[in-house]
Amino acid sequence: MIIVLKPHPTPELIGHVIERIEALGFTPHLSQGVARTIIGVIGDEDKLQVEPLQAIPGVEQVVPILKPFKLASREFHADDSVFEVKGVKVGGGHLMMIAGPCAVEGEAILMEIAAKVRDAGANVLRGGAFKPRTSPYSFQGLGEEGLKLLRAAGERFGMPIVTEVMDPRQVELVGRYADIFQVGARNMQNFDLLKEVGKTGTPVLLKRGMSATVKELLMSAEYVLAQGNRRVILCERGIRTFEDATRNTLDLSIVPNAKGQSHLPIIVDPSHATGRPDLIPAMARAAVAAGADGVHVEVHSCPEKALSDGPQALLPHQYANLMDELRQLAEVLGKMIDASEGVTVRC
Ligand code: PEP
Ligand code: MN
Repeated sequence: MIIVLKPHPTPELIGHVIERIEALGFTPHLSQGVARTIIGVIGDEDKLQVEPLQAIPGVEQVVPILKPFKLASREFHADDSVFEVKGVKVGGGHLMMIAGPCAVEGEAILMEIAAKVRDAGANVLRGGAFKPRTSPYSFQGLGEEGLKLLRAAGERFGMPIVTEVMDPRQVELVGRYADIFQVGARNMQNFDLLKEVGKTGTPVLLKRGMSATVKELLMSAEYVLAQGNRRVILCERGIRTFEDATRNTLDLSIVPNAKGQSHLPIIVDPSHATGRPDLIPAMARAAVAAGADGVHVEVHSCPEKALSDGPQALLPHQYANLMDELRQLAEVLGKMIDASEGVTVRC
């Protein structure tokens, strides 16, 4: 860590900062230039808090040398992490293709959509049973009944399932059914929830908060990793900007950016990022071209009857076309899309 003092520090100030550093058990190294004085601090940076030093009057800036996240960093794990969920790999060249309705709405419609996305080549089935809706009067999801239906669809079509968990108190229940927990954008900084899913052995799809920085996303991943659960998949789903032509603004630069700093896989959700079916295919292709480890798309066979996020849903045949394009792109890029293990059952 480097402590930069304000110009023209008094000898008393320099002495005081050095005293504080030594009192904390660290070794200070004073360097006095013509214009500026800096103090290097040697020792285990993890044990040194920035804020108390920053609070000393006369200190201009405290610059940590190490990243604030550790287990998520490339320093900790140089190679890409590759996880396998029921035979479907993600990371290290394996693309996870997640598709399904926004919400589980009923058995017949779920089975119909699951069959179609499975046939199109999706390898993970999604569907919310607990929905984080902006309005308390909107459809909130079917709860455990929805989890049971999603599980049944996953088993029938041989696909691992991902579903959202919104509260630490739901972790046990959702964990009985889910192959992957989804922590949604609104809960990216629900630290109690992150700790709770971190105590399980179930992989976590961690969506970027709508106004979260890349660093904040990685810090949230760190919460899960620090509890012992090392299987975190990051997900870009758009951030809030002034642009209102799209539901959110897709920040594709996060893909190479996060990959430069972290070994964790990162996938892209162009559905919530754009909110527009006409833009989803191009953004999905761009995501794969940018190096994303997968794509997450909402699909509904009758969007006008969908109980949530109908306007952004792709129709099954549109999703199938997109998957054809993504398969071609994957081949050119030398990436693999694992088939899920089950046998397709036609309804
Ligand atoms: C969802 O996946 O349906 C969802 C609510 O996503 P987000 O948390 O990204 O808004
Ligand atoms: Mn949705």
